[in-house]
Amino acid sequence: MKKIVLSRFSKEALIDYIISTGEKKFRAEQIFSWIWAKNASSFDDMTDVKKEFRAFLNENCTILDSKIKMRQISKDGTIKYLIEFSDGNCAETVLMRFDNRSNLSMCVSSQVGCKMGCKFCATGKNGFKRNLLAYEIVSQILHAQIDTGLKITNVVFMGQGEPLDNFENVVEALKLINKNLQISIRRITVSTCGIVPKILELSNTDLLPTLAISLHAPNHTLRSEVMPIEKKYDINTLYDALKIYNKLTKDRITIEYILIGGFNDSLENANELIKYLKNIKCNINLIPYNPIKGDKFKKPERNNMLRFKYLLEASGKKVTIRLERGADIDAACGQLAGKLNK
Ligand code: SF4
Repeated sequence: MKKIVLSRFSKEALIDYIISTGEKKFRAEQIFSWIWAKNASSFDDMTDVKKEFRAFLNENCTILDSKIKMRQISKDGTIKYLIEFSDGNCAETVLMRFDNRSNLSMCVSSQVGCKMGCKFCATGKNGFKRNLLAYEIVSQILHAQIDTGLKITNVVFMGQGEPLDNFENVVEALKLINKNLQISIRRITVSTCGIVPKILELSNTDLLPTLAISLHAPNHTLRSEVMPIEKKYDINTLYDALKIYNKLTKDRITIEYILIGGFNDSLENANELIKYLKNIKCNINLIPYNPIKGDKFKKPERNNMLRFKYLLEASGKKVTIRLERGADIDAACGQLAGKLNK
């Protein structure tokens, strides 16, 4: 008999289920708190739940139906997990600690593989397997919390997959993260390569997480070379969606820009980007390209990177160069799972 996965449930659904077994509402509340607030890894951890009911739960239910298949710990404290789901498929998730901050950020995957085919991305190269279900997305956070005993404070949907290509499950996961894990929606970032209709759909929900856009080029021609999505929803169509999201959230959008040596890191490119972003309320995150074995793209020169940053800052934007986290354990995102899912 397949066991019921309790981390799939909203609080209300868990209460309904526990009451259906003949137990009282407070029992469901105890179990809810053990799963979502106290990092219980098994029903035996739930010491205030009577023994007979724990035996019932052990027989009929499970907290999670996935497991940590591999764990790599970097010198800087970053932990990369490979999570194996019940059908044997795997996805990566990364826990990032920042020494100078109390934030604990979790970068989650939303799909096994990805259909978007961005040329600079290891996940894109490995093709698409399937969407992750909402609870499978959230399970990545639960695994990290159970493993470390720490409480995650921020979540970014920047792991494998295009979150807005798995819209229903991602919206459901946002609700679970917000309600069950009590992480404010403003501390959740959804990153997209630019599926315009889904950005608009997200702007019509009452969730409005922080939006991050993988822009990576300042014009249609360059963007088309590396991001197939540009042929469907071009940079100008994307611009209109960003204006709408800006207006609704009053929050800054994060613009992600991978600096690729000799491709999109010139003075001219910086000026084009400044022009494009002039009226968008945004912060810019520059990411030095990390070459994947066998591809044609190069790391940017340090001087070009600093000059690019300086020009953007001079235009009034807040710009950061993304810290390389977990460089000693890191194959580019997607490589570890890519190997195992083949
Ligand atoms: S960069 Fe993101 S959207 Fe593009 S292929 Fe990789 S995972 Fe998919």
